[in-house]
Parts: sequence; C-alpha cells; structure tokens
Amino acid sequence: MVVRDISFSIGGRLPIGGGAPVIVQTMCNTSTDDIEGSLAQCRAMAAAGAGLIRLTTQGLKQVESLREIKQRLRAEGIGTPLVADIHFLADAALAAASVADKVRINPGNFAREHAVACAKFRELIALCKTHGTAIRIGLNHGSLGERITQRYGNTPLAMKEAVMEWLRMCTAEDFYRVVVSLKASNTCVMVEAYRLLDAAMREELGCRFPLHLGVTEAGGGDEGRIKSAVGIGTLLGEGIGDTIRVSLTEDPVHEIPAGEQIVAAIADGYSPRGGRTCVEADGWDDFIIKGSCLWGPSLLDRRIDDFSLEGSTIGGSPVPAADGENFRDLLLQACRRRFTRPEYIACPGCGRTLYDLESTFNEVKRRTGHLAGLKIAVMGCVVNGPGEMADADYGYVGEGRGHVTLYRGKEPVLRRIPQEEAIDRLLELIESDTRRGG
Ligand code: SF4
Repeated sequence: MVVRDISFSIGGRLPIGGGAPVIVQTMCNTSTDDIEGSLAQCRAMAAAGAGLIRLTTQGLKQVESLREIKQRLRAEGIGTPLVADIHFLADAALAAASVADKVRINPGNFAREHAVACAKFRELIALCKTHGTAIRIGLNHGSLGERITQRYGNTPLAMKEAVMEWLRMCTAEDFYRVVVSLKASNTCVMVEAYRLLDAAMREELGCRFPLHLGVTEAGGGDEGRIKSAVGIGTLLGEGIGDTIRVSLTEDPVHEIPAGEQIVAAIADGYSPRGGRTCVEADGWDDFIIKGSCLWGPSLLDRRIDDFSLEGSTIGGSPVPAADGENFRDLLLQACRRRFTRPEYIACPGCGRTLYDLESTFNEVKRRTGHLAGLKIAVMGCVVNGPGEMADADYGYVGEGRGHVTLYRGKEPVLRRIPQEEAIDRLLELIESDTRRGG
C-alpha cells in the first residue's frame, strides 16, 4: 500500500511534512492582551530562530490582541507564522481561523455532547479551508474525555483512538492542512501514543499527517531537557515527527536552542540506529541532549538496563565522574527505569499563568529535593493544571492572581491560599501525610 505523506505550508511560507526540515517551535508565556510584552517575546523568539510561535487565545478578546500582534510583527518584517492556542471555546477557534496561521484545538473540548463538538469542528474546518489556515489537533494524555477513557482507559491506545476520530472527519471533509500532537508527561506513554498513531494513519488512512512532538510538563533545567530529548529524540530517530516543542518551565526563548540541539543530535547519528557508541559534545547541554537521544530510546524500550560513558567527552575532556553519575540518574528516571529523586511535573506556563511559575518551581524543587519517589506537580492555572498534572501525588496549582490551590492526588485539599504561604503548606501537607503513613 502506498502511504501518502501529507505536506503543506503554514502561513504560506513554512513547509511542513513530507520530508521538510523539522520545525522547532515555542509558545509565549505572556498574556496575549499584553501586546507590548507579547511583541517583545515574539521578537526574541524569532531572533532565536523559532519556526512557529504560539500564543494563548482563551476568548474573542485575545483573538483581537493576536490580530494586532500579527499585524505589528508583519509590519516589522517578522513573518514567523503564529498559532492561536485555544482550549475550550469553539467561538474563539472560529474567530481565530481568519487571524492566525494555525489554530491549535482539542475538538473534544468544544462541547460536552460529542455531536455538538463534531458540528463545531466541521464549522472550523470550513473556515480554515476558506482562509488557508492550518489546524493542530492537540490531545494530551491528561485531557482525554470520559467517552474515550471509558472504552479504552487512560492509555496511549485511547489517545490514538481519540485523534483518529477527528482525522477521519478531516479526510471525509477533504481537509488536509492538519498537524497532530499526542503529548504526555510520561515519556513511555508519549512515545507509545505517537507510534500507535503513526501506524494507524498508515494502515487505516493511507496517509501520514504531520506530527508535532512534545513531552508535556517536562519541568526545566537538565531534567526538562533530558525528558524532552528522550521522548522527542526517540521518535525523530524513527522518522516520526515534523515539528517539535521542548516545553520548559523557563524563559521560552530557551526552548529554541534545546529543540535545535535535539534535531542536530539525531542528524549527527545520536540515535540507536546511528551507529554511535559514545558522545562527543561541545558543552553540558549538548552532552545531555546527545546522550539522551543515543541511550534514551534503548532504555525506554527496555533493550538495555544501563549504559557506559566510556569514550564520551565534553569539549574534548572526559565527562567528570560526578556529572556523569548525575546524568545517569536523570536519564534512567526520565526513561522510567530507576527513580532516585522526586519526579517533578511542571507546565511551561502560558498566558493563563498569573504567578512567577519559574521561580516558584525552582523553590519547590529546592525544598522537596529529599523526597525521592514522590511526584510533585507545579502548574500555572486551574483551568488545565489539575487535568494535566497526570498522576502526581501532590499538586501546586495557581488559582487566580496571587492564590494557589494544593492538591493531594486529584483532590483539592487547601483552596485559594495566599501564594506566600503555599510552599510551607505544601510541605506541611506532605509531612503530615508521611507521619500518618499516607
Ligand atoms: S497548565 Fe495552565 S498555565 Fe500551564 S501551560 Fe497549561 S494552560 Fe498554561
């Protein structure tokens, strides 16, 4: 059977799919209504080489802000295609179809009733056809609807099945300007979901829609880079993936070099199929990304249990022993093979975040670093945070300006407490649960 690779251009200028270069993208963490702040961030992202820039678009007001941001960037000669990030409001997606170059949606969130969601999705497709706009169908592991999870559980299979429903509708409507993502914070779930989808598109649809790869809530620093490189690098090394985002709980401009390093590592043969056995890196970030792309896939798929750093160098010198051990611990944990420290699940933040997520996350990490084995989530907003924090044991979730709700598992246990107290209260909660043997 001949499988057709779907390809098109986003915003009339950016080719995607069908063997086009992998696009490295990122997302503003500013409020989209803060036009000047968003413009400054877009300029910095474009200068850093972002192929696509996404902005939070909760409602119609933000669609208008996005319109102004786009007009001003174009007037400055910055042509980077812009993506409207819609979560729930179908009307915002419909309005954004004539403004953004691409609209990111999860059509299942448009309405409780599936038939209503389908009708809204068809309406969106019609508008995107008229305006030449692309759609990303973005399903996350944490946001699958009950209709799907009741049939397939909260599994990679459920993610694949959910997205295939929408893709069948796209092909029936003869609409192919579509990119798909199936993100999860668990690298095993993420990789499995994309592999299943790639196979299903080939076998059932006879075509491959371009895929957007990413590990959600990967956190920041070395952990965020390693987790992302394992998930994204595994798939890119298998020829799966057309655009990537390394989500970091940091300045989003940092996501661009991290993404470029992953793409370059795969191109340089740092994958199980690339024939390399050790890493020759220019610096630390380059080393952890190349090493994650080289050994991560085999650890993830349980083909190996450990790896040797013999022969690996950073800047021509052997990797210092302590740094090598630190990397080993982080990579084994990212591949879910050995847990030696707490697991952090942190969103990158976006226009819905109303507190300083990065410094809060770093402070939470500093104060909970001794709690090996626990999963602790730090999420920017209550709209998506609780759903997206997966199976975290505890969650620190922003709820309105200056307030935080603390979760034990999926249960909110301390609501809307002032942010200044929240980390202390989180530690008290964990300590009292530990004393009670929880
Ligand atoms: S959890 Fe909320 S704040 Fe964080 S990235 Fe998702 S939508 Fe944005």
